[in-house]
Amino acid sequence: MHILITGGAGFIGSHLCEAFLNRGDQVTCLDMGSRRKIEHLMDHPRFRYVHDSVLNAPMVDALVTRADLIYHLAAVVGVEHYVADPYNVLNVNVNGTQEVLKAAYRHDKKVVFSSTSEVYGRNPKIPWSEDDDRVLGSTAIDRWCYSTSKAVGEHFCHAFGRMGLPVVITRYFNAYGPRLDALDRGRVITIFLGQILAGKPVTVVGDGSQTRCFTYIDDVIRATMAAGLLDEAVGGVFNIGTDRETTIRELAETMVRVSGTDTEIVYVPQESVYGSSYEDIQRRVPDITRMREILGVSPDTSLEDGLRATYEYFLAERNRISSEPRFRSMVERGRT
Ligand code: UDP
Repeated sequence: MHILITGGAGFIGSHLCEAFLNRGDQVTCLDMGSRRKIEHLMDHPRFRYVHDSVLNAPMVDALVTRADLIYHLAAVVGVEHYVADPYNVLNVNVNGTQEVLKAAYRHDKKVVFSSTSEVYGRNPKIPWSEDDDRVLGSTAIDRWCYSTSKAVGEHFCHAFGRMGLPVVITRYFNAYGPRLDALDRGRVITIFLGQILAGKPVTVVGDGSQTRCFTYIDDVIRATMAAGLLDEAVGGVFNIGTDRETTIRELAETMVRVSGTDTEIVYVPQESVYGSSYEDIQRRVPDITRMREILGVSPDTSLEDGLRATYEYFLAERNRISSEPRFRSMVERGRT
């Protein structure tokens, strides 16, 4: 098969490209971000990388024509963007998704749209099943623009589905693993890893009692592939995650243990990390019955194993970068 993956140079996208290449498929990756996460795939004979935006409609159309299956992952993701550049979040996530869906509709190609657990907002129900309500705050709070942009994308998927387009929606719950964001930035796991590797204390926000269900990338990829490949999934919405809940305090402790260091854990107020316009979610747990029963995938990587693999990746990455001649000369000139 020929798979088009928009956002294929991102964290989940790069693993998805790799998995389809390993399955024997041809993969086209459309992405305008850094090539760092797909650098190792660039010379693969069945891999093609197109550096362009999902907002480029003629390009999207041309790529969709040649594909058998489309994964639409391209989006502006990350708390720092929700707070710093809400226009970009809304524009790319809403209008980019429309371009992909319109092209797929014109050429009758199946689309798997990657959405997020953020769509449930702060619904206090535990766990969240796919048909549960979205509970969001005021539009004056920038934090909700990402959730809203993905929910609009989902509405477009349902609308195109009604017109006959085969669509599947996947909602990810705190996926992590090698190639997650850059160290120090992005999500909690890379922030903690950056701190541990720099010998700084790990900063737990609040009292650390808030929870997430951290889902290892291998489990995420198995479910994501099934969502695109199984006929039974068409028209469905799927939570992709684990139902094992972890407090942020436990995450910090496990990461410090896995690293074999004696890193200190400190507790910091939320505003010091995100500013005052951010609203944290206390608990986030998926009901994964559909993932298990329809996609046939059960998450089976333990937090300890997943964190160890992630830690080892970032440790090797840091050592590789710091041994690069350019970096070494910067160190010698005292510029780091
Ligand atoms: N968090 C933390 N310390 C940090 C960064 C984040 O304790 O330095 C917490 C944050 O308050 C949230 C959780 O980690 O409760 C997960 O945050 P992340 O941004 O990774 O993802 P989210 O699940 O909130 O989208």
